[in-house]
Amino acid sequence: MNNNENNHSIHEFDYSLICEYFSSINRQGPGSDICTRQALSFIAPLASQARIADLGCGTGSSAIILAQETQAEIVALDLFPDFLDRLTCRAVGKEVSERIQTIVGSMDALPFEKESFDIIWSEGAIYNIGFERGLREWHQYIKPGGYVAVSEVSWLTDERPEEIEQFWLDAYTEIDSIGNKIAQIQQNGYRLVATFVLPDECWTENYYVPQRRAQEIFLSRYPNNDTAKDFINNQRREAELYSKYKAYYGYVFYIAQKTA
Ligand code: SAH
Repeated sequence: MNNNENNHSIHEFDYSLICEYFSSINRQGPGSDICTRQALSFIAPLASQARIADLGCGTGSSAIILAQETQAEIVALDLFPDFLDRLTCRAVGKEVSERIQTIVGSMDALPFEKESFDIIWSEGAIYNIGFERGLREWHQYIKPGGYVAVSEVSWLTDERPEEIEQFWLDAYTEIDSIGNKIAQIQQNGYRLVATFVLPDECWTENYYVPQRRAQEIFLSRYPNNDTAKDFINNQRREAELYSKYKAYYGYVFYIAQKTA
């Protein structure tokens, strides 16, 4: 095996570990069913035969709510087949599986027809392509007058302690103020409809708390695996930083309508 192949396989191993860890919890990012419903409440009633794409859907919490709350066809797309398998199991349990189609794919190369969706939805996932690039590229797949609804980590204050500023600039350089995010929405062919900050429990009860149990199980399954230990340490550090600095940043839902 040459070096490149070796790196490649280590990388794939990392992904499969991370995937296994997150498959066991219902949300892979901060959020809640209540916030999914709240974001949807700002969007006018959908026409019959409406279609919604949920990009970076993970194990499907938002896709299931969207299927329950609307009559739309839901197209749920994620890079990882394991997450989609879990989504399908959950959707069968909630009796909405016949209206949810899953697609293994990448949000930066969408296999969709132009103007084919009433809403493009994406919770805690647009950062993978970058907020502005996502808004710009996804625009073409939305029907005229359709919507985009995304949640994105954002600064809640003008200034913040160095430690948290540095952490986020390392993790995601596009983290920005709500004002600047709204300006990007407006510069890319959308009209802002609503925005709200996700409450604390979206991070704690729905994201970090379920991870604690997953971490114990994971470490007991891979006691001698450095990749697994590093990964868990990173997740724990992120949770600690959140509890220390949550006054300065949060996840923010942005709901906007296509204008042009
Ligand atoms: N929306 C889910 C998951 C958020 S975590 C929730 O709120 O629970 C981010 C998700 O984006 C993960 O499921 C990850 O597999 C997916 N992802 C990462 N890069 C992606 C890409 N390029 N295209 C599609 N999905 C991607």
